[in-house]
Amino acid sequence: MKLDATDLRYISSDAFRVLSAAEQGSKNHEIVPSSLIAQLAGSRAGGVNKALGELAKKKLVAKVQNAKYEGYRLTYGGYDFLACRTFAKRDTIYSVGNQIGTGKESDIYVVADDEGQQMVMKIHRLGRMSFRAIKSKRDYLRKGQSASWMYMSRLAAIKEYAFMKVLHDHGFPVPQPIDQSRHCLIMELIDAFPLRQISAVPSPGALYSLLMDMIVRLARSGLIHGDFNEFNLLIRDHRTEAEKDRDDETPDERDARVAREGGDHPVKVELEGDEYDERRRREKEGTLLEPVLIDFPQMVSTDHPDAEYYFNRDVECIRIFFARRFKYESSVYPKFTAVVRDGVREFDLDVEVAASGFKKEDRRALEEYMAELAAHDAANPQEVASDEEYSDESAASGDEDEDEDEVEQVDEQDDPAAPTSAPRPRPAAGV
Ligand code: ADP
Ligand code: MG
Repeated sequence: MKLDATDLRYISSDAFRVLSAAEQGSKNHEIVPSSLIAQLAGSRAGGVNKALGELAKKKLVAKVQNAKYEGYRLTYGGYDFLACRTFAKRDTIYSVGNQIGTGKESDIYVVADDEGQQMVMKIHRLGRMSFRAIKSKRDYLRKGQSASWMYMSRLAAIKEYAFMKVLHDHGFPVPQPIDQSRHCLIMELIDAFPLRQISAVPSPGALYSLLMDMIVRLARSGLIHGDFNEFNLLIRDHRTEAEKDRDDETPDERDARVAREGGDHPVKVELEGDEYDERRRREKEGTLLEPVLIDFPQMVSTDHPDAEYYFNRDVECIRIFFARRFKYESSVYPKFTAVVRDGVREFDLDVEVAASGFKKEDRRALEEYMAELAAHDAANPQEVASDEEYSDESAASGDEDEDEDEVEQVDEQDDPAAPTSAPRPRPAAGV
């Protein structure tokens, strides 16, 4: 879904009050009755209707008619708007720029403050695809009626922010967290490519060790990333352009160069002063390529019942990637039992996250939801490929002449009884 920043500053104060009322009402109603919106906004019905019209036109809310009452649903666009407005009010952001990523469950934008300092805004969109199939499982619906996409997306953002903050405070290489509101968070922009886009490295062994050390250090702090892979590792590249070209050479290109130059001479690195010293330090440390870890909503504690599985999967992801991409294989890799057996922890980050205000029950709700989502996705691969489910705003956006009074008809009936426990996305034994 596209985030339309042009509307950010142009909305009447009445409309804003009504939008806030719709948000408030969404905590207990997926479809908020118009009368409740009016009551929460504390305005006359006439004024509220006009404001709702304005909001519907901007697709910040959508009108819904069901069997019992007329109401409005806050759209993702409306929720985005409210979060952006909060960030703008706090002077965290001033403008919204390009979208740089679309994950299955998130959108990533470059944003900037009023001095042009760039940052990243991550918008969580849980349930974008599988929500309708899953929402019948009312564990996730606090009172059975709330808009659970909002609730879960917000939990994901709160969780990600809490983990990023604790990790950053303890010197882990992660983006600096800057702000959080609703389903969005703002963080430092890392000027780097994902590992996935790096075709060759000078010393795969050095990078491999850095990554395995990171997994171990996390586990010794009580945490497992849970999605430690080539997409979630951004690599700050301190090589010179000439060095990158050299590392990317094919064997034929290498032979041609050696013949041309009469030998395999090292790349000349022309740096002076501090830059030269910094460079020497990196060479010594083996950090010419410097990994930064991102994407934390699925992090789990080493006390989680499936901790060993998640730990091994993280390790395995890196091993497989290095073998395929860099033809680097090592018999040395961390084992969960060895890492956590002695029970020695450098710190208990898990406990610190709990102390940061991310509640245990919220955490459990999110973990269960994500596990079910993964199980659902695994069982419905065709759905994962399409981005249509629940993205009503984007589906409608191509339709310029759409009647602003268009009404969704929904079936008031509850979902038929659904099983309360889905299989965990656990692997077969031996992974
Ligand atoms: P998802 O949960 O959708 O995988 P990620 O947090 O992994 O979301 O972000 C998706 C992509 O957006 C990343 O692979 C990366 O390319 C880019 N990205 C995310 N955060 C940052 C950041 N702080 N700086 C630079 N790029 C980022
Ligand atoms: Mg990711």
